[in-house]
Amino acid sequence: MKTPPSFAIEHDVATVCPLDCPDSCSLDVTVQDGRVAAIDGSSLNPVTGGYICAKVRRFPERLYGPDRLLYPAVRKGPKGLASFERVSWGEALSLVAERMLKTRRQWGGESILPYSYGGSNGLLTQDTSDATLFRRLGASRLARTVCAAATGAANMAMYGKMPSITYQDFPEARLIVLWGVNPSASGIHLVPYIREAQRRGAVLIVVDPRTTPLARQADIHLAVRPGTDLPVALSLHRFLFEEGHADEVFLKEHARGAEELREKARGWTFERAAAEADVPVDALRRVAELYATTRPALIRCGWGQERNRNGGNASLAILALPAVAGKFGERGGGYTMSNTASWGITNTWAKSAEPRTRIVNMNQLGRALLEYTDPRINMLFVYNSNPAATTPDQGRVLRGLERDDLFTVVFEQVMTDTARYADVLLPNTTFLEGYDLVRAYGPWALQLARPVIEPVGESRSNAEVFGELIDLAGMREEMDPRGELEEMLDVIARLPDDVADGVRATGAASVPFDGRPIQFRDVWPRTPDRKVHLYPEALAQDAPAGLYGYQPDPATSDFPLALISPASEKTISSTLAELSRPEVRLLIHPDDAAVRGVNDGDEVRVFNALGEVRCKAGVGAWIRRGTVSMPKGIWRKHTANGFTGTSLVPDTLTDLGGGACFNDARVQVERAL
Ligand code: SF4
Repeated sequence: MKTPPSFAIEHDVATVCPLDCPDSCSLDVTVQDGRVAAIDGSSLNPVTGGYICAKVRRFPERLYGPDRLLYPAVRKGPKGLASFERVSWGEALSLVAERMLKTRRQWGGESILPYSYGGSNGLLTQDTSDATLFRRLGASRLARTVCAAATGAANMAMYGKMPSITYQDFPEARLIVLWGVNPSASGIHLVPYIREAQRRGAVLIVVDPRTTPLARQADIHLAVRPGTDLPVALSLHRFLFEEGHADEVFLKEHARGAEELREKARGWTFERAAAEADVPVDALRRVAELYATTRPALIRCGWGQERNRNGGNASLAILALPAVAGKFGERGGGYTMSNTASWGITNTWAKSAEPRTRIVNMNQLGRALLEYTDPRINMLFVYNSNPAATTPDQGRVLRGLERDDLFTVVFEQVMTDTARYADVLLPNTTFLEGYDLVRAYGPWALQLARPVIEPVGESRSNAEVFGELIDLAGMREEMDPRGELEEMLDVIARLPDDVADGVRATGAASVPFDGRPIQFRDVWPRTPDRKVHLYPEALAQDAPAGLYGYQPDPATSDFPLALISPASEKTISSTLAELSRPEVRLLIHPDDAAVRGVNDGDEVRVFNALGEVRCKAGVGAWIRRGTVSMPKGIWRKHTANGFTGTSLVPDTLTDLGGGACFNDARVQVERAL
């Protein structure tokens, strides 16, 4: 067992939140008698200083709540019933290691599938000793594409993931477009900067099917039909190119592919795009005029527009707007996307080279478990993730997890929907019980997370558990770090010198350009020629309808409603969903409810060919007609029949990047009898 550091018993400990949220708040954690008593914001990160979200304030309920996993266990009843028997760590890890080696011997390494995502989003909890173990085993590789795959592919191809405009510069903008993002639920520290910009007279435009809090205060709200962001963005490009607003000087000097984009946009008149998106033509034209004529202008491109069949091309078209309109080169002008890549550091710290083994797209887990052969997946190792709740086509995922011949290990903090299916259950520490390095993807920041308390129960860190499995599998090599502290020091040693020095000295890396780079003045595209690639042909082969090609709405007369599942302020993906929350409701527009005889509070059936969800209806005009909404990240206990919105989501993939098409679910709604 790890010996806790001496400062673990002090009353206030500085650390940082690593959860999958753009902000990465610096934290002050109050410890009393070895237990976390309160969590609040600290000023170490000036962007998030002083306050945190309500969900992380409730983190002590996760640490000490009834769902916390306290010791290793093995299954003693049918899969899915969470029936377990306590065992020692030695027994549990020996069982897992023996099973790994046996599975590899019998069916080959690719019959083992590691499954993980950003449960704890730090640099230490993923792609360190875990990756070393699975690489040495020759396991199948997982394409981690449930989020940010399409936007990541677009941003990488077009700009090489150039650093973004950061929160502090939003007040400098005279026009802000929030496209597919709701900072009031995820990324709350951006909101005051937007309000400050509005106070200074900035125009706010929101593109979102829902009337979010910021959409209510926007000058123009385009409540687009899900999946139609691409035609909307292309109509803006057509206007810029054809009405003399394209910055031809900038394009000639700094961009490639402008002519191809101009051609692709040519057919998208305001009338055609507005009809496709079901928004007023005049509003769309007004957005184009304002964007063309106002500066500084910035676009905060979110993730809502990527979760459909056109998501990659939509993200390309949105990200191309500041280049075509010539919005770069001044403070408050340009775009904001993820800042993950701004440090220019690697995403993997594994000690072994990546083998050329099979790649399994995480969005198709159910299909992989049930249908993949050569070899069949016979061992699944889930950590930092809860696929039974979060992965598309939930019914198929659950049928896969129920397979008698599948050996499933779940390494988790609490009893999630996935943990209930484990053959071996391993208790994991939270970010308050260990070290990590946390890289923000909203503000430009990188901080050290410290252990605040001793591990609760017998929980262990990722570094400890994967390190022990490497030992038990006989795969340790001389230079491998041993334990969490060594692993952290190893990662820090491999950071760029200036970043490492800052972390060692103060716990936070000093940020270039005071954290406020100006695009095309301080930072440039990280493409090989430092230009914007408006028509990145390397992506074209992946896109079913080509670059900027639009795929029509998948609605049918049987299933006419678009179901979306946006982030809520209650969970971070599905993390913290074990905590009590108000009843989950399907949001539906009054007109859609009326024609179905549905009243507010009625129990409804939401269904399509993939499955059915039963829950209460919430009737209100905060969602557009023809679209219904259920929160992202809910667990099976939150609905009347034990299925969540993911049971209605096809496991089809985005046009670029292999992302999840959550917003391509088309459903019917009726009153439950
Ligand atoms: S989830 Fe986001 S807002 Fe909440 S504490 Fe963590 S970083 Fe801050």
